[in-house]
Amino acid sequence: MAVPVKLSVFEGKIIAIDGPAGSGKSTTAKQLAQRLGYTYLDTGAMYRAVALFALRHEVSFDDENALTQIASRINIEFRTDSEKGQLIFLNDEDVSDAIRTEPVTHGSSAVAVFAGVRSEMVGRQKLLGVKGNIVAEGRDTTSVVFPKAHLKVYLQADIKVRAQRRHMEAALRGQESTVEMQEKLLAQRDANDSGRKESPLTKVPDAVVIDTTRMSIDEQVEAIIDTARRMFTVKR
Ligand code: C5P
Repeated sequence: MAVPVKLSVFEGKIIAIDGPAGSGKSTTAKQLAQRLGYTYLDTGAMYRAVALFALRHEVSFDDENALTQIASRINIEFRTDSEKGQLIFLNDEDVSDAIRTEPVTHGSSAVAVFAGVRSEMVGRQKLLGVKGNIVAEGRDTTSVVFPKAHLKVYLQADIKVRAQRRHMEAALRGQESTVEMQEKLLAQRDANDSGRKESPLTKVPDAVVIDTTRMSIDEQVEAIIDTARRMFTVKR
């Protein structure tokens, strides 16, 4: 059981973590939030909720107007369950598992290219961060959502290792998967996320870059806590 970190320098801070799929953002951010007693904000889950709603209502992933309407109208809520941890609700329905299927994963990166969809999601994310004490992760949390975050982290890892991680996660969920298939899907998603016009995935100049290729989750969490402790303690 990891020891909670209770230091006054951590009060009210925002930690933003960006990086490509499979770099370890979600697991790291979740554990980091637990250690610090912060809220964990999974921004990707929100784009996934938009994609899930669109899929269920047969809205095309090309239809920018309809997708923007969906983004502005759906209710997305994060709730904490004592056993299952953080859950995501779409219009009051628990969709925590439903947003992790391959069609939704593919759809999330398609809907995320549209400015209208993004500004809706970013507005909601900024609101969730107003009081600080938050670890946010995604593709634009260091650049657009929280450009003034107290600590910005960019996680990266070799694509082969990322594919292996995704394969293990899919297998655990009972989904059909091979490492080769995951590598192809990741390459596609990397190209989408980094090549798009609106808020592409970027390494901002003031981000601390951590390569997680050979790191365990515990090591990643410790590395971020150490960096945060140093940065928050130094007077600037
Ligand atoms: O992080 P996750 O894999 O759940 O994100 C799903 C998709 O949502 C990403 O591939 C990306 O296209 C999009 N996304 C985004 N901006 C964020 C978080 C996720 O564009 N801040």
